[in-house]
Amino acid sequence: MQLKFLGATGTVTGSKYLLSTGSATILIDCGLFQGYKQLRLRNWEEFPVAPYAIDAVVLTHAHLDHSGYLPILVRDGFRGKIYCSEATFDLCKILLPDSGRLLEEEANHANRHSYSRHAPALPLYTEEDALRALDFFQPIPFGQPRQVAAGLTAQLALGGHILGAAIVTLNDGQRTLTFSGDLGRLHDAIMVEPSLVAQTDYLVLESTYGNRTHDPADPAVVLGQVIRETAARGGVTVIPSFAVGRAQSLLYEIYRLKQRGEIPALLPVYLNSPMALDTTALYQKHRKLHRLSQQECQAMCHAARIVNSVEESVALNQQQMPMVIIAASGMATGGRVLHHLKAFAPDSRNTILFAGFQAGGTRGRAMLDGIDAIKIHGEYVPLRAQVRQIDNLSAHADGNEILSWLGHFKQPPRQVFITHGEPDAADGLRRRIEETLHWPCRVPEYKEQVELL
Ligand SMILES: [Zn+2]
Repeated sequence: MQLKFLGATGTVTGSKYLLSTGSATILIDCGLFQGYKQLRLRNWEEFPVAPYAIDAVVLTHAHLDHSGYLPILVRDGFRGKIYCSEATFDLCKILLPDSGRLLEEEANHANRHSYSRHAPALPLYTEEDALRALDFFQPIPFGQPRQVAAGLTAQLALGGHILGAAIVTLNDGQRTLTFSGDLGRLHDAIMVEPSLVAQTDYLVLESTYGNRTHDPADPAVVLGQVIRETAARGGVTVIPSFAVGRAQSLLYEIYRLKQRGEIPALLPVYLNSPMALDTTALYQKHRKLHRLSQQECQAMCHAARIVNSVEESVALNQQQMPMVIIAASGMATGGRVLHHLKAFAPDSRNTILFAGFQAGGTRGRAMLDGIDAIKIHGEYVPLRAQVRQIDNLSAHADGNEILSWLGHFKQPPRQVFITHGEPDAADGLRRRIEETLHWPCRVPEYKEQVELL
């Protein structure tokens, strides 16, 4: 059995693992690279194996850095099944077409304003490519092994990271290989905690926050303080956020802050995402995958006014009053939040509040690192607004939580492969596991192939 690392090495993006046995070739996750340009360019390269030669794909979860390359794989000839949980499929039905639409909009925008060096600028893929990819999905239940290719079963366990997120264990009858996917928190307000794994031969482990410890303070305290102070200055709080997962956590916390009177009950909160309504509805559908009651789901849904049309979105930028705007994308790499940043970043009364991990090379990371102007759509926008971050609202386990999850293994894996982390995080986690658990660990390189005996 050979495992080849086609992404999520030295970065938290582009998750793709190619597994070949004597009788089957499958891909675990099929994500887009994001962040640094040299990473994004990999999305345009020819895929290292012909897509038609891949028998199946198994997804850990729906985030685009794990699923967003599927439209290209299908467009270029993949004809197998894409296995994942039902909630992951439901989220992909929302996320993938939206991703295609955004890529098309960006290419059109670049062509109209001619700021791309490519003439004409082409989208990486289209909405139609994304819709076609959805035809190949095959949802499978949690907790039951299913054959996904000749001689190979996959079993999903709850990952706790976002709705439908799974820890995936593959078994070829001789050995097991487990992918942690993105590992959730132990005590999240909304998501269930990750299922425990007792034993596996090989483990591919994420390390986004592998060298860090989340602030133990209640994230709502910082969120409330930032929103309150910004509103008191007459400013706008702009929160770049994934529309899936993070946006719902924010809405839930905002609902609780208003309930407790910690932010003004009448302060307008906008969720600028046409996907948000559909996504929040999925929390009602998949009640067993999270901790919220029916009433709490409803309250979360009603915590913000949903902005649907582009016209409404543009109109928000003209409003001169305190408010909160939540809009994608979470690392300000694209999406409607860019238009809000153009409108609100130049005013020092406003706050740009990041609520998730900011990968190197993204606008989000650059803003946190203190740049004084942001390049958006080919022009520089002065950044005078305050830039803040809440990191403990994260949907990823930190180093301690990962170690605690590993502590439930009854016997050590033969080898742990540490992926999905920037170099310091991956190496920091490697050192901790080697020093405290004495398990053999390695941090693989891009396109490295290993033999699993
Ligand atoms: Zn994720």
